[in-house]
Amino acid sequence: MPKHIVSGLKYIAAVNLTKQGHSQREIAKALKINRSTVSHYLNGRNLSWRSIEIARVITEMCPRDFLLLTHSLTQNTEMTRTIVKTCQQREFKGNVRNSCIGCGLCVDTCLRKAITLRDLKAHVDSEWCCGCLICVDMCPTDSIEIKEVEIDGNDRSN
Ligand code: SF4
Ligand code: SF4
Repeated sequence: MPKHIVSGLKYIAAVNLTKQGHSQREIAKALKINRSTVSHYLNGRNLSWRSIEIARVITEMCPRDFLLLTHSLTQNTEMTRTIVKTCQQREFKGNVRNSCIGCGLCVDTCLRKAITLRDLKAHVDSEWCCGCLICVDMCPTDSIEIKEVEIDGNDRSN
């Protein structure tokens, strides 16, 4: 069953990537499947609709559950990054306070590879942050703040 749910997640990602204007070749590369499988997906062939329903429920979970469940199903970090980036409808931005000591724990923890260290200070790349807050829980100096933003760029908390 996990394999079928992963196919459901890839189907949803393939549909979204198509809507974003990506070619079947690009979609196949991003999802690590061959072009004929992409074509089958987009034509609704070789798929269990029940698996798609379950996959859709997963994409609508809170960011952390969506990320961790997808990662545990795919067992593949790069594919997880692609699926979450493609299917998540929410946006987040991160801010790192000056109290950061550059320990790198958040960099190692982030499954989206959204954090880098520059001059011994962490930086969050909003393009890849999915708002799972795992880095916030992990940081020993409470230096990371993650906020959800509206599509127009405003903080939802404001
Ligand atoms: S875990 Fe916290 S202190 Fe360590 S690098 Fe990340 S933000 Fe800085
Ligand atoms: S909340 Fe933190 S751990 Fe989660 S994706 Fe964003 S930067 Fe990475």
